[in-house]
Order: sequence, then structure tokens, then C-alpha cells
Amino acid sequence: MAGASMIGGLGLAARAQSAVTKPRDGAADVLDVAIVGAGLAGLTTARDLNRAGCQSFVVLEARDRVGGRTFNHDLGDGRVSEAGGQWIGPGQTAVVDLARELEVDTFPTYYAGKTVFLAGDARLAVDLHGTFGTDEKIAAKLNALARDVPSGAPWLAPNAAELDALSVGDWLAQQAIAPADRVGWDATVLLSGGATPAQMGLLHFLSMVNSAHSDYAQLDSIKDSAQETRFVGGSQILSIKMAKELDAHLRMTCPVRAITDWDGEVVSLHTDRGVVRARRVVMAIHPALCNRIDFSPNLPNERAMLQRHWPAYTPGRKTAMVYARPFWRDKGLNGHVLQAGGPVLWAYDNSPPDAAIGVINSFIQNGAVPSDPELATRMLTAIYARALGDDALTPQQYHDVDWGTCDTWTLTCVAAIPPRFWTTYGKALHPPCGRLIWSGTETADIWAGYMDGAVRAGHRSALQVLNSLGAHA
Ligand SMILES: Cc1cc2nc3c(=O)[nH]c(=O)nc-3n(C[C@H](O)[C@H](O)[C@H](O)COP(=O)(O)OP(=O)(O)OC[C@H]3O[C@@H](n4cnc5c(N)ncnc54)[C@H](O)[C@@H]3O)c2cc1C
Repeated sequence: MAGASMIGGLGLAARAQSAVTKPRDGAADVLDVAIVGAGLAGLTTARDLNRAGCQSFVVLEARDRVGGRTFNHDLGDGRVSEAGGQWIGPGQTAVVDLARELEVDTFPTYYAGKTVFLAGDARLAVDLHGTFGTDEKIAAKLNALARDVPSGAPWLAPNAAELDALSVGDWLAQQAIAPADRVGWDATVLLSGGATPAQMGLLHFLSMVNSAHSDYAQLDSIKDSAQETRFVGGSQILSIKMAKELDAHLRMTCPVRAITDWDGEVVSLHTDRGVVRARRVVMAIHPALCNRIDFSPNLPNERAMLQRHWPAYTPGRKTAMVYARPFWRDKGLNGHVLQAGGPVLWAYDNSPPDAAIGVINSFIQNGAVPSDPELATRMLTAIYARALGDDALTPQQYHDVDWGTCDTWTLTCVAAIPPRFWTTYGKALHPPCGRLIWSGTETADIWAGYMDGAVRAGHRSALQVLNSLGAHA
């Protein structure tokens, strides 16, 4: 769904034009819109406003770079490896449309060949054909439950209270799964949901499955699933390209610390680079980061509680080991490694599309790998050597980002929502507070938590802003 055509289709462009260009008496320094956050959501909103003819807006970004939870490690010679969000899959049409408009190509995730399982001293190589070998009977039960759980508002499910009382772990424990198979479930839930089954609410997990056409296989696998496709140039390229179009509207290294008068006509945003005043504010940041901003007057209790209780500091550490070439492919291996008991949760081939160099990325078990790059390289290459062969012992580069613990402007990888969260706080997720419009991927109707959800939330927020400016013009 292209933002501009969507806006045009609803006949809002002309309304927006008149609303935003009309001079307003005695308020020369007051912008129509301030957008907080230059991730995919905030930049999508900004791009839609721009294309609708609105020029009176600014994007305030805390970091000195755009892209938020998408970030490309520069590997040299124009090649990158993604440290944050990277894959897209079936049904993620909003981010695909955005990529098409920005002329960003895609390419398939590499999975041809055998995946290696490591458990203690044991090593087993199996061709999973782009899946994680999920038990279809259990997946079918999840799918049936997911059909009634609206992905963007799980608390509205008919049996929400009952489902939300359970963790995914509680539910799996009722399914008589053999201990060996349970290890696989634990790993895939952790990888797709950012939390162990015991930490994750069943209702939340079902809302994720609902996004994937209520088909668990479309969530957790590679082939025909959410990890199927990558962006040429890395996912951050989408934000970098949008930022180029919006250059004059971006204010970088400009964290918003406090927001006052959000309940009045003109809101003040207090940043490290001065005060910005605007008639509408789009909060395109994670709810846990909203909680770090000082709001005056206080936000309504329900919204404040949602922000305060939103899980933060969820580990999401991703490493990249760069080799001269993807040597594992010659041996019929796909570079994917699953290690029972860690420290590697899942290693995978993240080489660029031309495979001119080889890259093994890993999701790492929390606290299991030293932060010192030399020690981490030694530990990880020893594991890769067992799985893929001794060529793994001679990498050329190592990169590492731990999103969950040490990054000020990203407190968590994906939303690890616990039991009872949605039924207690969910209702406060969407309703605007005064002139504040809540955005960011967490507010998306489908694929919340994903890049696609961020783009969808960005389009929706632009429409909300244009509608409300038009209504008050
Ligand atoms: C390790 C990891 C792996 C992932 N894997 C995938 C994947 O494979 N596929 C997928 O679809 N998704 C994945 N995701 C999720 C995806 O990256 C996010 O859903 C998406 O990028 C979120 O976009 P956003 O614009 O909503 O938020 P963000 O990207 O978080 O953008 C918010 C921006 O706001 C800024 N900001 C925060 N606070 C302030 C403030 N007070 N003032 C000013 N600016 C502020 C931040 O610096 C940031 O730039 C992954 C995420 C991580 C971390």
C-alpha cells in the first residue's frame, strides 16, 4: 500500500495542502507536525506528509543515524551485514511496496544444503529444506487458536482473558511434547518472539501467528516464511533513502527529553537542541522509550501504565563473522547452525547476494559470549569450526551489536510481551492523548514488531495527522 496513493485515494492530499500551508496568526515558529524517531515508522510518516504537500514538519532523531532498529554493518566494498531487522516474508506487502518505490531490490535468504545441529559433543547435519522442522500437529493447534486473536488488538479476542493467563511455556507443557522436540520449540519461540516460552504470553504469541495468515510455518521458517527475503544493500538502506528525500526536515542527534502541553493547542518538545513547537506530534518510538520522556501534564494513568510495564532490556544480540568466501557452501552446508544449550541460538549464512565474501551471523544466548571482540571471535569461531569445518577459524572481520542491554535508543529487540499484559494494558496502545499520536511498529494492525508493521504504522499515523489537521483547519 503506497502512502501517497493511499492518501490521494482518500482525497486527503488537497485538504492537507490547505491545512498545512495556511499561515497561522502569531505562531510563526509553530510547526504543524513533529515526528519523534527516524526509524522506518517515523520516516514513512514524514515521507507521506511530504508527498501529500505538507512542508511544515520536522523529524527529531536521538541518534546521529537513521534506521533505528535497522542498521547495516559496513563490510567494505559496498557490502553490508544487517545487525538489526533484516528479513521479510509473505504478506509483508507494506515494506515490499516501500522498497519498490525506493528502488531497493530484494534477494532470497540462502538455505540450500544441510543445517548443522550441535548438542554437547554431538554433531548432526540435516537438510531441513528451509524450515526449522516444526511439529505440524502442534503448529496446527496454534493456528486454530490464532484465527480468533486480532493481531493488532489481541485483547479483543473472544477468549482473551483465558489465553492471556497462560504463557507459551504453560501451553506447550500441556501438549505432551517429547523433551528433545521441546528444545526445538524453545529455540524457535525465543528467536521469533525475543523471549523464552515461559516469559511470553500465549495471547501475544497467537497475535504474531495471526499476522502470518494464522499459519505458524509462515512465521518461524525461511522458505515461504517471514525469514525468506533480504534487501540488497541491507534493510537500513530503506531509511537512508527516505532520509535523503527528507533531508531538510531531519534533525539528528536531537533526543526528545520532555513534552509539555500535549493536551493544549500547541505542544512543546524539549530536545537537546532546543524547544520545538508543533500542533501534532507523532511518537514513532518504542513504548518503553516513551516511558523515558517526561510528560507534563502526566499522561492518563492507563497510557502511563502501558509504557511503564512494557518489557524492555530484552536481549537481542547479533554477531557477524566475515570470511573470504562462503566456504561451507562447497561442502553442501547452508551455514545454518543450531546449538542446544547455546551460546549460539542460531547461526545463519548472511552473505551478500553476490557471495563474493562469506558472512555467518548469529543470534547469541544472553550473557554467554564475552563482549570483548577478540574473546568473542575465539569462542564463536571454535563453534563454527565444529559445525562447518576448520576454515571457520580464520575470519577477516567480526561485528557485534547487543540491542537489548547497551543501546540507549533501542531498549529491546522485539516485544517480549508476558502473560496478562495485553488484557491489562492493551486498550491504551492506540488512542491518541491530546495532540500525541502513538506510532512505531508496536502499534501496527498486522506484523507489529516487524519492519512491515513499522511501515504500516507510519502510513496510518500520516493519515491520522492529515485527518486531524484537516478537521481543525
Ligand atoms: C536484532 C533485531 C532483529 C530483528 N529482526 C527483524 C527481522 O528480521 N524482520 C523484521 O521485519 N523485523 C525485525 N526486527 C524488528 C524491526 O527492526 C523493527 O520492528 C523496526 O525496525 C522498528 O521500526 P520503528 O520505526 O517502529 O522503530 P525504531 O527502529 O526503534 O525507530 C525509532 C527511532 O526513534 C529514535 N528515538 C528513540 N527515542 C527517542 C527520543 N526520545 N527522541 C528522539 N528519537 C528517539 C531511535 O533512535 C530510533 O531511530 C528486528 C529487530 C532487532 C533489534
